[in-house]
Amino acid sequence: MYRTSKQKSSSGDKLITSALGGLGTALSSLDPDSPLTPEQEAVLFSRSGKSLLSFIRAIDTCHYCRRPIFIAPGATGEGGFGESYQMLYPLKCGSRLPEVCPGCAALYGIDAKRLISLGLEGDGETVPLSVSQHHRVFFTITEPGLGPVHHYVERKKGTPGICHPGKKVPCPDDDRFSHSCGKIHKKDDPLLGSPLCLAHYDTVGQILHNAIMPDLYDRWKRDTIRELEKMLDLNRDELQEHANLVFVKVAETQARGAIHFHGFARLDGPTGQASDPTIPITDQQIVKAMTKAAKKTVIHKKFEDPEGLYPTLERDFRLGEQFDVIVINAANAKFFAKYAAKYVTKGVSEAKGFAHEFRSLDQIDALPNSAWWFRQLAHVCWIMGEDPRFKSLNLKKRANALGFPNRVLSASRGWSVSFTQLKQLRKAWAIEHQGDHPQQLNVPRELFEDDSVTWSVAATGWHSPLDELAVRSWWRQTEEDREIQLAARREQLQYERMVA
Ligand SMILES: [Zn+2]
Ligand SMILES: [Zn+2]
Ligand SMILES: [Zn+2]
Repeated sequence: MYRTSKQKSSSGDKLITSALGGLGTALSSLDPDSPLTPEQEAVLFSRSGKSLLSFIRAIDTCHYCRRPIFIAPGATGEGGFGESYQMLYPLKCGSRLPEVCPGCAALYGIDAKRLISLGLEGDGETVPLSVSQHHRVFFTITEPGLGPVHHYVERKKGTPGICHPGKKVPCPDDDRFSHSCGKIHKKDDPLLGSPLCLAHYDTVGQILHNAIMPDLYDRWKRDTIRELEKMLDLNRDELQEHANLVFVKVAETQARGAIHFHGFARLDGPTGQASDPTIPITDQQIVKAMTKAAKKTVIHKKFEDPEGLYPTLERDFRLGEQFDVIVINAANAKFFAKYAAKYVTKGVSEAKGFAHEFRSLDQIDALPNSAWWFRQLAHVCWIMGEDPRFKSLNLKKRANALGFPNRVLSASRGWSVSFTQLKQLRKAWAIEHQGDHPQQLNVPRELFEDDSVTWSVAATGWHSPLDELAVRSWWRQTEEDREIQLAARREQLQYERMVA
């Protein structure tokens, strides 16, 4: 929804208003990701200098957000605004998903990487540098296999092998499928991860596992601490008087639609980051405790229908056998921080159309065939959402995440800093540097810093479709520039290595 100006129009405003009238139909049929045409640019740059500057400042302040919320000092209610953007401060939409808002997702990715690596290495300001001397490990926990899936098999020397070899006979329960494949899949084959046979894949179990995974993770952390206590001959809960294990984890969706966690644990002393453990504990003891816990962690669940119409479903949930833990040292800390952060903005589901919550089953069924397995999972998840036994899992709302209920990234208190703290640091920086970088704010600094000023929402989204198009187009431009800079830097490094 775009609002019309209630403010006094300048001559530039009038020009744009009339030009937009003519552009209206052309804009509606435009590919939102195509670059701006010279005509569109001409209209954009025909606005008054002051108004153009405040538009650019607004884009800069909200880091190219696709749908910012504009607040204004003192105003009451959504009064709307003109295309001048003066006296408006944009708040980012804050989406983590690049499909929704690439600008906000990029910022989230930067924050996530910072949050993870600060906990591994510290910076001497927000997190003490001494954390890099504490024991740190990188772990991967998975869900168990729930039926055979098409997979990429690597034989020796990196040559791909055959996926489920054998004679291709139809499955006795569903003749659309067979229990052998015989193909050599390419790494990007969309078939990878999908079940060989739907009748012999535990689809309901997959959704339930995804929904229970965060509880399993919490149980595994507790079990790890119990194992360490046993190893050190300490009573229950005694470990924390000497040492504390803190965790951070990132969720990833595998091609088969199962959730994977990658994360780090760090051993601090009894009072947190700045303190050292008061009893000797080795890396290997932590690794052993985690591995033992991963084998035994189990959650028993009973899904009951309060009306008694459906039979009660009971099930044990365990972690997959694919458990991995690596000791972190000065040489590999950066690599693993980057590796884990990569998953943060991927979102729980990478398939197109899964970024938003679904509103109906039809919407799920209309998903493209190339994503057939994720579509199937989302479909089953939605149907299960109507089953009274699974009411507490809120599955309809989570069908786009295939049942997974959590945030992609979560950290123990004490790991490093929070997203809120990072945001506050950025805001403080913007205020501090307003003098050196006048593009930082559209609102006078005194007003911005004055806690007694009340702010209210003036509008949501950019003023016009053309403005929105400009934000998209310029964001892409900055991305391309960054890519070019990175490529040039890589070439420079290669050259330096060559001549060294
Ligand atoms: Zn945004
Ligand atoms: Zn296959
Ligand atoms: Zn079968």
